[in-house]
Parts: sequence; C-alpha cells; structure tokens
Amino acid sequence: MDHTARFEVHSVQKQYPEPDGIPNDAVLVLVRDGKLCIRKGSTPAIPETQSLDLPAELGRNAQYLGHRGPVPWYAIEVPDDQPVPEGRAYSGVRELVGLIPDEDLAIAGLALGIIDYDRNTRFCGRCGTATAPAGTERAKVCPSCHRVIYPRLSPAVIVLVRNNNLALMIRGKEAVPGRYSLIAGFVEPGETIEHAVHREVHEEAGITIKNIQYRASEPWPFPDSLMLGFVADYDGGEIAPDGIEIESAAWFDRDHLPDLPPKLSITRALIDDWVAAR
Ligand SMILES: [Zn+2]
Repeated sequence: MDHTARFEVHSVQKQYPEPDGIPNDAVLVLVRDGKLCIRKGSTPAIPETQSLDLPAELGRNAQYLGHRGPVPWYAIEVPDDQPVPEGRAYSGVRELVGLIPDEDLAIAGLALGIIDYDRNTRFCGRCGTATAPAGTERAKVCPSCHRVIYPRLSPAVIVLVRNNNLALMIRGKEAVPGRYSLIAGFVEPGETIEHAVHREVHEEAGITIKNIQYRASEPWPFPDSLMLGFVADYDGGEIAPDGIEIESAAWFDRDHLPDLPPKLSITRALIDDWVAAR
C-alpha cells in the first residue's frame, strides 16, 4: 500500500554529541500551549532564526530536534504569557496542513512531541531528581538513580476487516455525526501486535478475524502514537458493537460508503486502498 505518513520526518537527523548551547545558525520552532508559531503572510512558515530576539531564558529548555543538512533545529516552548512576536500567530498543527511544506509540518509535529516529552520528564518518576539530557541519544538520565528515560511511543493498531465485497466500519460514541471509521486501539502490555488486532476487533465488533496482514504505519505525535495499519478477513461471529466505546458497527460495500475520515490519514488510506482493489 502506498501511504505517505503525514508526520514522517525525512530530513532531520540527530547528531551526537549535541551542539553546545544553541548555535548562531540554528533554526527554531516555537511552541506555545500545543500550538506552533507561524510567520503570517502569503507563504506562512514555521522556521525562525534567532533574529526573533527571544528572552534568553527561553533558550534554556530548547529541545534539539536534529540537523537538517548543516543546520541544527530546535523546539522551544514559549510560556502562555509571552507576547506574540511581531508578524506572527500561533496555530494548531492540523490547520497548517497544505499551508506550509509537508516536511515542515512533519518537523512541527516532531517539535510538539518532543516538547511534550520534555515537559513530562523534567524530573525522574522514580526518585524525583531533576533529569539531564543523555547527550548520546534521545533520552534523559537521572543523575541520582541513573534511570534512563526515553520518549514514550504508544503503539496502536488500526484494521480494515474484509468480508467478500464488504468492509467493516464502526462509529465511535464521540465521532462526527454520520461518520464511520475503522477499528483501532492501543496495544497493551504483554500482547503482540497481532493479538492487539484480534482483541480490538473482538472487543469493538464482537467478531473473529483471520489473515492479518500489515500494510503501513504512521507516526501521530498527539502526543506520542505510532499507528500500525492492517487488513484482515472476517472469520466468524455476528457483529455486536460493545455499546460503550462503539455506537455502531456495520458492513459497507464500495458503492455505498458512509462519511469517512479525511484523506491523508492512515484510516482513509486503508479504506481507499481497499476501494481501489475492487
Ligand atoms: Zn531517579
């Protein structure tokens, strides 16, 4: 399946040891309350140079994202009370789709994820000591108990279940009215990815499946999911939505599809791929 993951970062590579301080040629991505600072204008842009003249203390928590070519990129969290710089605005990342280059959008997603990781790991969860960057990999170390803390990644599975010419779709309780999606859920400790696919289908729709096949994956940094996309075939049972998370589950044929999630999501890519395989 040909799927371009929206938040797959191609151009940024980490180098170690990390640069000492923020080099003068560094590019900054500013994040405030989960939103990104953009330069307004006919071609909105995210990358900022240090000519923006931010208060020096903001740089202390700068998060090294990696080098893009010879240039180091950093994410900087800006407090809510910091005035919006001249000619700038803060925008949610989803609102920037199609407005800024795809790779910049992916890096913006990375910046959000790394800022979230930094906020959640400033102190050791085991002993409470302030942590420090590991310096040799994307991790932090507790100087007291030597615990190493990596960015959290939460793997989740999403699956399109086929039954002859039909595909299984579900409506969550919180879904947009009329919209259907695919069965999905987080992988639990102690289970394989395949087991998670079987379990989610059984929990959400009450049926059993077979022939699970991996299709594509997608990082989704809100804040830390990694979606793993599958197709599978119906094996047995009657559809019975759980009634708690899932309001409705139904088989659809290609000519009578419900309202679907937007293009460019892995959900939609799995559905479009199935439709194209008519
Ligand atoms: Zn510790």
